[in-house]
Amino acid sequence: MAFAYDDTNIFARILRGEIPCNTVAENDHALAFRDIAPKAPVHVLVIPKGKYVSFDDFAANASDAEIAGFHRLCAQVVRAEGLGLDGGNAGFRAITNAGPHGVQEVPHYHLHIMGGRVMGPMVF
Ligand code: 5GP
Repeated sequence: MAFAYDDTNIFARILRGEIPCNTVAENDHALAFRDIAPKAPVHVLVIPKGKYVSFDDFAANASDAEIAGFHRLCAQVVRAEGLGLDGGNAGFRAITNAGPHGVQEVPHYHLHIMGGRVMGPMVF
């Protein structure tokens, strides 16, 4: 499957420094920043620095180093935001939307990490 990447998407522009973001953490392979319209007391987006459209694009085509770097940054964010179960915290929700049926707004892969309240059941 081909994943056509749109270089003009808003997260590509954030990665290029063309528009600002509220950075939470960063490593060689990923960037974490606060969602501009938070749906929970903590709402952080984690994105790979590489050009991947969606979860399935990233999981299939990113290098092992990119996949490891991305997930290590997710773990760092969870810990730093006081959400991690290993710290005795109450937990969080991590979700990703893909394509039209996933109602993905920004076509650059991102994981939403949300917490600070009970998130509710997964019904829509
Ligand atoms: P999606 O629907 O693609 O899974 O989620 C996209 C998310 O990106 C939304 O939660 C939206 O609030 C967030 N978002 C859209 N534009 C910006 C922006 O310019 N800056 C930041 N920080 N978040 C954005």
